[in-house]
Amino acid sequence: MLQHPIRNRIWIGNEWSDAADGGTFATVNPATGETITEVSSAQAADIERAVAAARSAMTNDAWRNMNPHKRSRLLWKLADAIEAAADELAALETADNGKPYFESRKVDLPSVVENFRYFAGLADRIQGATIPVAGPFLNYTLREPVGVVGCITPWNFPLSLAAWKVAPALACGNAVILKPAEQTPLTALRLGELAAEVGFPAGVLNVVPGFGETAGAALVRHPGVDAIAFTGSTEVGRIVMREAAETLKKVSLELGGKSPNIVLADADVKAAVRGAATGIFYGKGEVCAAGSRVLVERPIYEEFVEAFADRAARTTVGDPMDESTRLGAIVTEEQLERVMGYVEAGKAEGARLVAGGERTTVNGKGNFLTATVFADVESKMKIAQEEIFGPVAAVLPVDDLEHAIATANDTVFGLAAGVWTRDIGKAHRVARELQAGTVWINTYNQYDSASPFGGYRQSGFGRDLGYEAALEKYTQVKSVWVAMDR
Ligand code: ADP
Repeated sequence: MLQHPIRNRIWIGNEWSDAADGGTFATVNPATGETITEVSSAQAADIERAVAAARSAMTNDAWRNMNPHKRSRLLWKLADAIEAAADELAALETADNGKPYFESRKVDLPSVVENFRYFAGLADRIQGATIPVAGPFLNYTLREPVGVVGCITPWNFPLSLAAWKVAPALACGNAVILKPAEQTPLTALRLGELAAEVGFPAGVLNVVPGFGETAGAALVRHPGVDAIAFTGSTEVGRIVMREAAETLKKVSLELGGKSPNIVLADADVKAAVRGAATGIFYGKGEVCAAGSRVLVERPIYEEFVEAFADRAARTTVGDPMDESTRLGAIVTEEQLERVMGYVEAGKAEGARLVAGGERTTVNGKGNFLTATVFADVESKMKIAQEEIFGPVAAVLPVDDLEHAIATANDTVFGLAAGVWTRDIGKAHRVARELQAGTVWINTYNQYDSASPFGGYRQSGFGRDLGYEAALEKYTQVKSVWVAMDR
């Protein structure tokens, strides 16, 4: 299946190296339980080397003073290189994460390519302003890179979420140290190598595989790192923010969610059922914006639950490499156990299990869970409040629009939300009243490199994607004053 040599060492200064202490960790294919390869496990000493390489790139003319048109072309070339290697990268992603090859190859990879092209377009359009200040002065601003950016990414969309950070950070002229999740480090390592192949100077993109508590923590603490762009759990987001305070790094956090998908009585029910299913079963529900709470207005509640349960029953697990598979393997045994804990909690709290909830295997192997739907869930239940990060939907009945909005906002999170209705006024009203960084109307799980994505409340702050968000996150503004009267 994986025909190309697998990159499994630390990538610093455009070269492969072992961890200083020689340590490695296994990365496992969750659909088979087999070890794909042993990967070098970066420790503080390796982060030290990565920071030195990145800092030297930031003072090296080849990168610091690179003509912005050339920076743009390099990003475009990297997009081309990723596109040319898309089959290889998609197979790696599926082996490492367990997601269907269909998703890796047909959704993730094209969006990664598009993302690098979009931010290639930003690289030579970053500019300051001249500002009409009082007095005999010329005042203007320069938009400069932040410096060395540590990007820490999770295992659910390993290459996509790396691209969301790496592409804009490089477009803005920063040097990057990318710390991929320990469960899924392989595509990020190949990305580092591809960047060197297309001509990014040494030290501009470094990739340091390793564990969060070692490699990740060392990156967050290092005084030579100027900013941390993090995507992961709310729990670790809190640690990152606390640790980064010591050196006052610029921090952005894209964290968990418990996103509501609201189905009003006047909705196109068939479309809403389809949307609710992709909202929670796409990516095995291991999606920060997963529509994990489905709020349904009472007049259509029973009809909806029946159709949704039926659809879940038809969303079957399969070998992720089989191109017809739409529900893959849960990323790790440990994660599957966590998710099963929530299935048990749902039953114990009195929710009605109407589909799935069973641990299973494919060809006798792997960590699989059938598409799961709980009905009659109450907002205070654990499965309605905590992020499960698996293919488990909680369906809650709501009385009317007001109740739907109140229930939707009854959470500490605020990443995304969906609303299904044929009433345009209601749709916009709901969009305005929801505490969420993204609202989808009559659709779900739409993304585009040009549209900002990020959280309200405990889903974090700072935005990925979109050029304004990139400038905000990956540049800093300098104000320059010139006396005109001497
Ligand atoms: P998930 O629940 O998706 O596994 P985590 O928040 O645990 O999310 O992990 C997201 C990323 O954060 C991973 O790359 C992980 O290694 C890293 N990480 C975990 N703990 C820490 C930490 N203490 N400091 C920095 N990074 C960490």
